[in-house]
Amino acid sequence: MRVAIDTQPGGTGPNEDWVAGTPTLAVVLDGLSTAGLETGCQHGVPWYVAHLGSQIVSALAESNTPLTVGLASALERVAALHPQCDLSNPGTPSATVAILRERQGFLDHLVLADSPVVLDGHQGISVITDLRVDQILPELKAEVARHETHTAGHKQALRDLVTAQRETRNTTTGYWVAAADPEAANHALTGTVPVGDVRAAALLSDGAACLVTDYAMSTWPEVFTTLRTVGPRGLIDTVRKVEATDPRGQRWPRYKSGDDAAVAFCQW
Ligand SMILES: [Zn+2]
Repeated sequence: MRVAIDTQPGGTGPNEDWVAGTPTLAVVLDGLSTAGLETGCQHGVPWYVAHLGSQIVSALAESNTPLTVGLASALERVAALHPQCDLSNPGTPSATVAILRERQGFLDHLVLADSPVVLDGHQGISVITDLRVDQILPELKAEVARHETHTAGHKQALRDLVTAQRETRNTTTGYWVAAADPEAANHALTGTVPVGDVRAAALLSDGAACLVTDYAMSTWPEVFTTLRTVGPRGLIDTVRKVEATDPRGQRWPRYKSGDDAAVAFCQW
């Protein structure tokens, strides 16, 4: 497997996405926004995703380890790296996870929350994604969408949404993301396909996938054409050009003008 990667911050703040590629593994993590609220952690989201990503790669070095077992192990290892922080805080640093692994003629995939794994197969496109987060708190999301980005109303609506999300995050009635509790790994969506069925694959944080899922300015086949011709950086540049036409989020209401974006593009 050949993996091309790139990640770029969406604004002037630190990048809270993380991506890695090895000859057998691609990983994309998207750290969840804290909206400036208390987290109980002195390290921050960029620290969290860098350590979680590194521990996922390490935990999956043994190719027969199931992806959920590797993810649970990585979550435990990262939690053990900062016992001095309050890991029971509902705002403890957290991230979406997308993993693709090649193993003896097969591709194993895992998604936890809304960073999709997209397979460009001989039978067509398959989008593997976990949209449980989209199904909760519709009224608060609508309130965020009502405001242009960079306004005080938008900032307050986003804080209200994140505060409410924290109450349902990693509970049986809410949605699951990678955070301090390894139990989240058991709620990831996993599957396996023969590698021979797939021409290419892409793992994307929602800051890149939004080109298709939110803006509808591209189709998945067009995304694969872009990735083949100009690579992950070219795809992220395309997202930024589209966002620049709507800097205040009027056409496409969103949490930020531009979100951090990460892409891993896998070919055989
Ligand atoms: Zn910490």
